Amino acid sequence: MFSLQLGGVSRRSFLKFSVSAASLMGLPYASGVKMAEAAEHKKRPPVIWLHFQECTGCSESILRSTHPDVVSLLFEMISLEYHETLMPASGIQAEETLHHAFEKYKGEYLLVIEGSIPSDNEGFCKIGCKEAYKLLKEASKYASAVIAIGSCSSFGGIPAVMPELTNAKSVENIIKDKPIVNIPGCPPNPYNFLSTILYLLSFEKLPKLDDKKRPLFAYGRVIHEHCERRPHFDSGRFAEEYGDKGHRLGYCLYKLGCKGPATFANCSVQRFNDVGVWPVSIGHPCIGCTEKDILFKRDIADHIRIHNQTPPNFYPSVAPKKKDKPVDLRAVAAVSGLAGVALGAGAVMIKKLPDEGDDNDEK
Ligand code: SF4
Repeated sequence: MFSLQLGGVSRRSFLKFSVSAASLMGLPYASGVKMAEAAEHKKRPPVIWLHFQECTGCSESILRSTHPDVVSLLFEMISLEYHETLMPASGIQAEETLHHAFEKYKGEYLLVIEGSIPSDNEGFCKIGCKEAYKLLKEASKYASAVIAIGSCSSFGGIPAVMPELTNAKSVENIIKDKPIVNIPGCPPNPYNFLSTILYLLSFEKLPKLDDKKRPLFAYGRVIHEHCERRPHFDSGRFAEEYGDKGHRLGYCLYKLGCKGPATFANCSVQRFNDVGVWPVSIGHPCIGCTEKDILFKRDIADHIRIHNQTPPNFYPSVAPKKKDKPVDLRAVAAVSGLAGVALGAGAVMIKKLPDEGDDNDEK
């Protein structure tokens, strides 16, 4: 039977996390239990985590998770063999650890990549005197799968923005012969990463991915569908400027450049830092950080085109403005008169039609 006690995480707390991870993936309750059991009984997969051109924000994001303590889970669910930010070793010792891990876990290890890879100016990013590009090739050779964590390793990120000094590439631009999962975001939600690991561990296969290799359970819907400001969008209430009344009242941020309608991610549901916040909830428009063609490619203030607009293009005002002028009855009479003339003309035409079509009903 199931008796989990992982790194100070109680069975109850871990089971709760596994069940919520399963529901996040659209799996039944029983899968959550299976995932918790897999984490306890299966051999922890060895993980080698490499950093290239990045800011370490993705690792920081994972370290900030607290319910349950994801750091404990990471160290108990997986066998973290190499991670430059977290490991105590450095220099020659760190290099030896890396090459020892390559040899010991050949064909077994999961390779996690944080940051994009310079392909022109190879001297720009070296680890242990080895160019990032060559190190990635070497590390991926015997990896069972590669997880690109964050938007830089998934799509190139900020190092790939003009003038592209290093001709930065994403993992999938370089590695063509391994299964790859992209977990984009700047930073990505740590639970999307952790849920992917749990899925791999439990079912020994990759979760379903979209055309950008993102797990569908986390990136299957646009943010706009579940945003708490959506009722304001649907009712035509928008913040027009930072700090204006609409902004202070929590109105929709579309006019400030929110990219939520075109951004596939679960931020509005999963949220960050275990305190229920995400950028839009604290007044900043979504910048589309999980989207290859939006992040750092569109200005923050740009209005994104809405392709699947459900509300109408224009809205009736929610409450009449106090300063609205009273309706001019003469103008109404004039308009009504014109409308009456038009209707009258229409009626005459309609009356005439049967005469013309007497001998041909289809006309
Ligand atoms: S446009 Fe942005 S702020 Fe407005 S409802 Fe959509 S996601 Fe939320």
